[in-house]
Amino acid sequence: TPRPLIAGNWKMNGVEASLDEARAVAAAVDSHPPSARVAICPPSTLIHRLADALAGSGVEVGGQDCRAEASGAFTGDVAAEMLADAGAGLVILGHSERRAGYGETDAVVAAKVEAALRAGLEPIVCVGETLAEREAGDTLAVVTGQVRGSLPAALAGKAFSVAYEPVWAIGTGLTPTLEQIEEVHVAVRAALTEIFGEDGARVPILYGGSVKPSNAAEILKARDVGGALVGGASLKAADFLGIIQAA
Ligand code: 13P
Repeated sequence: TPRPLIAGNWKMNGVEASLDEARAVAAAVDSHPPSARVAICPPSTLIHRLADALAGSGVEVGGQDCRAEASGAFTGDVAAEMLADAGAGLVILGHSERRAGYGETDAVVAAKVEAALRAGLEPIVCVGETLAEREAGDTLAVVTGQVRGSLPAALAGKAFSVAYEPVWAIGTGLTPTLEQIEEVHVAVRAALTEIFGEDGARVPILYGGSVKPSNAAEILKARDVGGALVGGASLKAADFLGIIQAA
């Protein structure tokens, strides 16, 4: 089984000064190597500088989205190849903020995953139910449906991870119970082994949604939890390191 992955999603936060937080994370990771892989996914404008600042350190750099096409007349968009060119090694795809805000369907996410593979990037594919879907009892159907629809066959044999992020837990301070997290992660695992066979057993399934230093240890110990995708608590080195050290 691969090492757990702790990835920070800075979302649309971060300017030049934030590089100091990333440097502080890298300094701590390099002086006390954690059991987990560590990545930071800053806004696109910072990828190049972060990749330079963290080169040779134990902290990897990723993007937060890409377009499926490799180039062309797509004003404002960024291709997977461009993320790789800027120094990213990973990319978050299908985040709920993209699914909800930009109408990204499973098919769109799957096309972006193929683009990431084409560019040599390791995808982190996000899935998760809304509160209404949970209250309707549809959580497992929604999440496993997103897994099936968002993961193209081209992922077979490739390094990637899935991030389970309940939409209602993102940025709210609310987290599912450990039983609820395990229930979904076990269902995602079953879908992954159905799609990818034995390889599906080794795909890290990250949990995301209000992860912080105080709840990270118990969440990361839960069944089939292979890491965390961290939003708000990844912006400050001290908080992010608290989570990294809990892994
Ligand atoms: P928070 O950790 O701020 O809840 O965000 C989670 C998230 O959306 C990470 O992708």
